Amino acid sequence: MLEMFENHRTDGERIPFNDLAIQWEEIAEDARRDIDQVFARSAFSSGPYVEAFEREVADYLQCRHAVGVNSGTSALHLAVLAASIGAGDEVLVPSHTFIATLWGTIYAGATPVLTDVDEATGTIDIADAQRRLSARTKAIIAVHLYGQPANMDAVLDFARRRNLVVIEDASQAIGACWNRKPVGAFGLIGCFSFYPGKNLGAAGEAGLVVTNDPLIDKRLRSLRNHGQRERYLHDEVGFNYRMDGVQAAVLNRKLARLPAWTARRKQLAQRYRAKLSELPLVLPTVHHHDHVWHLFVVRTLRRDGLRKHLARADIETGLHYPVPLHRQPCLQHLNSDSRSFPCADLWASEGLSLPLFYGMKDEQIDRVIEVVRGFLAPA
Ligand SMILES: *Cc1c(COP(=O)(O)O)cnc(C)c1O
Repeated sequence: MLEMFENHRTDGERIPFNDLAIQWEEIAEDARRDIDQVFARSAFSSGPYVEAFEREVADYLQCRHAVGVNSGTSALHLAVLAASIGAGDEVLVPSHTFIATLWGTIYAGATPVLTDVDEATGTIDIADAQRRLSARTKAIIAVHLYGQPANMDAVLDFARRRNLVVIEDASQAIGACWNRKPVGAFGLIGCFSFYPGKNLGAAGEAGLVVTNDPLIDKRLRSLRNHGQRERYLHDEVGFNYRMDGVQAAVLNRKLARLPAWTARRKQLAQRYRAKLSELPLVLPTVHHHDHVWHLFVVRTLRRDGLRKHLARADIETGLHYPVPLHRQPCLQHLNSDSRSFPCADLWASEGLSLPLFYGMKDEQIDRVIEVVRGFLAPA
């Protein structure tokens, strides 16, 4: 994942996978002033900048409580803990996602139960989740993959019938809407990552947990800060998962621009969809809700060849993710039969992420389109 934005200045003909410097140029003047203030006020850890960001982002996400933390991985850990899920409990998790989706479940001592994904969208397949239920199933983690909400009607209905806690991993989908409402607060707890390459990225590591439940909010705030309700009084085993003031200052400046940045991502995706539609290529399936295009992932049996062809033309691509969770060496104890995830395997072997980032120029995307066409439909 690091190579996502290392050394990614756009120069000459090279088309990078991402170019975060374009975002920085837009906010630099304002952000520098705020960062100066963070230093002047020594608001390094938690403090007024984190609180200001929490208010702004809660407003943006239309949820009651937003708790800033130090990464998306920490957010997912706290979500599982705050839902009181632990040893002996099972949590349904899609096999096709970034592995951090399930770390929190494992850290909390619970057992992830991998499920297959929907062939069209790559998000959790509820019919398959149903087959993997047991008396110990306590929660389901829905991942809003690539920027598109999982089918929340199906997830919420299933969870209601089975009395499961719903946790959303919205790391890739800040601002994406389901039924015109931003993802994150549909379930009990929602998690976000502000890893620099995400649609809203910090200047380092950061994350967020959101909820509408005041008791869960209290528990999250305590857990991220050593389990203390008041200073030096520790109710339970806690963690140091606080957010940095500098990150909050940068995030707040970027959040103000996020709607415009997301609109450009949608334009770029639209351009890919229109101009690649004639090719022998599976384009992303978009349901009638909303998609914020963290990634633009196409599918083809000739994935590896296409990737090499693009690399030869100096166009960088990505794989998200080439090894599904049921094939990860560290998770082999979870599933006895790795053949039962056909769609997760399909996405892993055929998916290719084309460059799509805020600041990408029309000429750049058109060249990607031309080079893809040159490989799949040579004149
Ligand atoms: C990025 C990401 C995470 C982890 O977030 P970090 O901030 O890198 O810890 C978790 N889940 C998904 C789906 C992600 O894309």
